[in-house]
Amino acid sequence: MGMIEILNPATGEVIGEVQEKTSEEITAAMKRAREAFPAWRDMPLEQRLGYVARVREYLVEHMETLAQKIVQDTGKVLLEAMMTEIFTTADFMKHYEKHAAGILAPKKVGTPIVLFGRRSEIQYRPMGVVAVISPWNYPLQLAMVPAISALIAGNTVLLKPSEVTPLTGLIMEEILNAGGFPEGVVQVLHGGKEVGQTLVDAKPDKIFFTGSVATGKKIMAQAAQHLIPVELELGGKDPMIVFADADLERAANAAVWGAFTNAGQTCMAVERVYVESSIFDRFVGIVKAKTEQLRVGTGEEADMGSMTFPHQLSIVEEHLADAVAKGATILTGGKRLNEKTLHFPPTLLTNVDHTMKIMNDETFGPVLPIMPFRDESEALRLANDSPFGLNSSVWSRDTTKARRVAGKIESGNVCINDVIVSVANPHLPFGGIKESGMGRYHGEEGLITFCHVTSIIESPGKKASEINWYPYTPKKREAFQTLMQFYGKQIKASVGGVNNLLREFFK
Ligand code: NAD
Repeated sequence: MGMIEILNPATGEVIGEVQEKTSEEITAAMKRAREAFPAWRDMPLEQRLGYVARVREYLVEHMETLAQKIVQDTGKVLLEAMMTEIFTTADFMKHYEKHAAGILAPKKVGTPIVLFGRRSEIQYRPMGVVAVISPWNYPLQLAMVPAISALIAGNTVLLKPSEVTPLTGLIMEEILNAGGFPEGVVQVLHGGKEVGQTLVDAKPDKIFFTGSVATGKKIMAQAAQHLIPVELELGGKDPMIVFADADLERAANAAVWGAFTNAGQTCMAVERVYVESSIFDRFVGIVKAKTEQLRVGTGEEADMGSMTFPHQLSIVEEHLADAVAKGATILTGGKRLNEKTLHFPPTLLTNVDHTMKIMNDETFGPVLPIMPFRDESEALRLANDSPFGLNSSVWSRDTTKARRVAGKIESGNVCINDVIVSVANPHLPFGGIKESGMGRYHGEEGLITFCHVTSIIESPGKKASEINWYPYTPKKREAFQTLMQFYGKQIKASVGGVNNLLREFFK
């Protein structure tokens, strides 16, 4: 474990370096996190939220400088750094500052008649030390939102940022330091996959992972050795279904933004568009015109920045080559802008089909393949013909049809006449199905996922014994038999028997 270079992908320059954590440092960090846990867990929630508020205030106060650094680290344009990293993170913090008390409060639930006299309650207890392992595409938001959620729920946190965007790892350390958390409550472990593996082997009480399917599977297998619960937020290949009766102007704007925002490096990017045959050519024409208007660059005047990770650009090129070899047509874009930086133009493809990688594997770059469909059932078949199930969208002015189709799409999130945005509503849980992962965060689930959901039942404790305890007698057997009949069809016949049973209870 050595030094990691900080590369500005939009200029090709190395702008610094970060020291990776050693195994010994990771062990020591885990020890500190464990020692810090009891006091943090027992601290009143309001006080914990005070630390979070300080982090949020720092984030907002320094948003300009922080966003500029994220731009240098990722190549994204400034507005995107502000909107999707700083604003979203602050928004989630504010949301939980307001709602955490309600979400984490013990909840009284009903108690059935057979357990008469008792009181039942659900409590949400922190798990201990949570490991957050995060990716490079939204390096601040995707690390800070789960880390802050875990902290609010009363856990201590070890955060391992992506080695591809190490400057953002330093930024997060700075922001969290500004919160003034007690020693050991939240620590940033800079480094690559070895640091991630060592962290898993240090046996945290929960692993929250965002990244690729391949790494998710490895982490799950490693976590299984220690039976550590994992939440996996993995890749996507999100379909967009456009019916002939959709508002085409809005749908085209959404396709262009949904595919090319953050240079297509969004887990919920529009990666496949299916368009009803009757409007296919018209829709493609509108999308092409809008795509060609996008300004690629680095300054404030750019709409699309550079890609972030050199390896991802090779995957984009590999998918394009495979598609073209199998008959796809590139309508615009298709070649990197220069050899020095990671700028790749927004690229539009037609004549695509499901034998191509571009329609099956996650491309994670500024590429938009468009394919026609004949009818609703074909659209659904194509959309669901994927190992992924993260987000999706349906476009139609007929809301009954749009909702019907949305109800049959296999994905953890669905947008109707909208794109990506489900993830931005802090009230909505977020996560994938199929190979897009398991578990949910955001919304109430976003705090509960970092808790042991604990069931409490409380009896007044005034009776010497209970009906289901010893001794077992024929009378008790008869009473339970009658009760079971009550659950079946013989309701009338059993009423007397239930009374007998209740008499036994209250004896
Ligand atoms: P990645 O899987 O390569 O790396 C993610 C993190 O895991 C990094 O911090 C990395 O250092 C660490 N890591 C790698 N190997 C590890 C191992 N064996 N043990 C422990 N840690 C290890 O993913 P990436 O390239 O950084 O991110 C891009 C992927 O993330 C895409 O597939 C994208 O769709 C997905 N993603 C998903 C979501 C979501 O919410 N579902 C959001 C953003 C990105």
